[in-house]
Amino acid sequence: MNEFELIEQYFLSNKTNRQRAARITAVGNGDDCTVLAHLEGRLAISTDTVVHGRHVPTSSPAAWLASRGLGSSVSDLVAMGARPLGFTLALTMPHVSQGWLKGFSDALFRAADLYDCALLGGDVTRGPLTASFTVFGELPAAGRLLTRDSAQCGDRIWVSGALGAAGGALALFDRKLSPHDSDYRSRLQLISAYASPNLPIDLGLQLQSDAQVHSAIDISDGLLADLAHIAKASRVDIHLDSKAVPVAPALFDIYSPDQALLYALSGGDDYQLGFTAASGWTIGDGSATPIGEAVDGQGRVFVDGRPVGEWFDALSSRLPAGVPLSEGYQHFG
Ligand code: ADP
Ligand code: MG
Repeated sequence: MNEFELIEQYFLSNKTNRQRAARITAVGNGDDCTVLAHLEGRLAISTDTVVHGRHVPTSSPAAWLASRGLGSSVSDLVAMGARPLGFTLALTMPHVSQGWLKGFSDALFRAADLYDCALLGGDVTRGPLTASFTVFGELPAAGRLLTRDSAQCGDRIWVSGALGAAGGALALFDRKLSPHDSDYRSRLQLISAYASPNLPIDLGLQLQSDAQVHSAIDISDGLLADLAHIAKASRVDIHLDSKAVPVAPALFDIYSPDQALLYALSGGDDYQLGFTAASGWTIGDGSATPIGEAVDGQGRVFVDGRPVGEWFDALSSRLPAGVPLSEGYQHFG
């Protein structure tokens, strides 16, 4: 049973709860955020957990649990076009280390400054190192709902930023970093992109207010995996052109073009947005790139004309042995 099957079976399918939830939500559970119907439908909510040694490497400094944890939750607000307001933090630690706590809380408030998002409450418990964030964001009054189930046939598929830096950084952690390496600067660039994610908050707000933009999703589980959620929820097929996908340039100094593409398409952890917009829509500032289109279909993803699984197998066969492969991140996958 994978992550999504278990969520569906044990948490989403309870009928009484679904009816109870439907009475109070404008966007129910299953999207990047839930949007409450109360308060004029303006409050978006999402929760994410970061487990030390699972979501961040065991060698990570305290700061990364904070910056990536808050970033991953705020990223769900961004995908709904909600402006971050505040968050609560449930922190579980094996013991008290003041040095660790100082590193964690300094990074937490730096990230909170960046997103203009206030710590509102939380909980502290003893146990394996884990930080759980619940974020609250504000939507415009009587605004549209930027969900994953409203892509239309003929839409172009877009992605924000350049992808793959986080996946490429994670693959570096078990190697020693030395200033004498010829790719030292590129490695540092990837690691710093991983440590301090730069979320496209303004883009999210802009997309939310633009009627030509039909659907959006946070692609932190990997571009292919998350676009498959749009395809499935919207009942369209998605066709991607792999050559159009913007790949973080530093990856090419360290990895082969195939491996760089692997991280961009399925590495995940980048905290960028995938979205679909009417075919004539465009954006002037280069903050997003068109990478494909949605057509009449049944929720499948194709890359360069081939079903995603087949295309992915062909890519894998060109990679060096030992590169971990997955079409996207899934717990219990
Ligand atoms: P994200 O990629 O933003 O972390 P997830 O993949 O964790 O989102 O979750 C997918 C969807 O399932 C979300 O809409 C989330 O609200 C819902 N979900 C996940 N875990 C649970 C749970 N334990 N109970 C209820 N809903 C859940
Ligand atoms: Mg989650």
